[in-house]
Amino acid sequence: MAELIMAAQNGRVIPKEDKIFGISRRANEMIAEKGADAVTNATIGALLDDNGKLIVLTSVDDTFGKLKPEEYASYAPIGGTPAFKKAVIKAALGKFASKRFVEAVATPGGTGSIRNVISNYSCFGDKVLTSDWFWAPYKTIAGEIGRGLATFELFNEERKFNIGDFAEKVNALLTVQERLVILLNTPAHNPTGYALTLEDWQGVADVLKAVPAEKKVALFIDAAYIDFAGDEDEYREFLPIVETLPANVLPVIGYSTSKTFTLYGARCGAAICLAPSAEIAEEFKVCLEFSSRGTWSNCAKAGQSIIANIFADEALLAKVTEERKEIRDMLLRRGRAFEEEAAKAGLEIVPFDAGFFASVPCDNPEEICGKLEQEGIFLVPLAKGIRVSVASISEERCRMIPARIVAAMNA
Ligand code: PLP
Repeated sequence: MAELIMAAQNGRVIPKEDKIFGISRRANEMIAEKGADAVTNATIGALLDDNGKLIVLTSVDDTFGKLKPEEYASYAPIGGTPAFKKAVIKAALGKFASKRFVEAVATPGGTGSIRNVISNYSCFGDKVLTSDWFWAPYKTIAGEIGRGLATFELFNEERKFNIGDFAEKVNALLTVQERLVILLNTPAHNPTGYALTLEDWQGVADVLKAVPAEKKVALFIDAAYIDFAGDEDEYREFLPIVETLPANVLPVIGYSTSKTFTLYGARCGAAICLAPSAEIAEEFKVCLEFSSRGTWSNCAKAGQSIIANIFADEALLAKVTEERKEIRDMLLRRGRAFEEEAAKAGLEIVPFDAGFFASVPCDNPEEICGKLEQEGIFLVPLAKGIRVSVASISEERCRMIPARIVAAMNA
């Protein structure tokens, strides 16, 4: 964007339009001109049906419709309603029984949890660490509160989690700063679809156990897509490993109801700490609530009431879980279809497990995406490749895209 007129630049590069929303706008313009059949919009970070319509869990929608005014119109407590906090801990941890001191603080979506964990567990000027394939808003969120973003290479040459580079970056940053916030988005990582294996997790724990005791680390597990990776219990098997971390490493789960309950617009999420002591848990709650008061004050109550009501009713919870399984299975089929066709077409993709997105490594993503746009295929160019949202297109279109990317690359 040209120089700002009244607003302060503060070192920021502010585009006129959000990149992904811009691509999506162009896709919609083409749909208006040429019709929906001519356009594949694989940019959207929401689960859509095969006709491009938003999927909403009907059991969640019904619960929303039954809310009483006091369940949405009045203010929620700053940290969230007690029933929501209890429910969201269950939603995040599933059957895992934590041996730690668990506290939840409500946040506007998963985004709010990222913001307030960074603001409370790092200092101005610090760098926050994440992988080199990352969700772009991490950088914006960190930058908006005077922090930078550093990255480690997510994959090594064997296409495995790059524990060596992770260790190197953690240790390098902790020689120049006293604290470190680490953002790990797993499972169903955005943008690659990767999930850390238990072996990866053990490696991460070993690296963090070796951090000098006087240094402080917050390990933020961005679990925005946790229930879209596969079996809900299996994908929580890493939690016991997290609980072996020493007292100077605080694990925090960033939970979002946006995808897991199809409540994207309700702006409902939570930061949940698995603290090693009651004091650290209490401090987490007090500090995050303080930051909430100084940013968005309290969060919207409707989403909190919906989640609380679902968890208060076993049959309703079972229905939500069953409905979610159906849409997850559809998403998994789409992801497999994309993977299969990529293999057939000889298209290298970044290690993929499951989730809303898959990525293709490439050196000229803007150029390839530009070519494909002209053919009606809208994808997202990233720094290191191209992101395909399998969440927003049909299985048939997931099968069609790999060969088209290969053709665009060879053209
Ligand atoms: N983390 C990741 C990696 C995401 O992709 C998203 C949403 O797209 C979020 C967190 C948080 O989403 P929300 O704030 O909508 O809950």
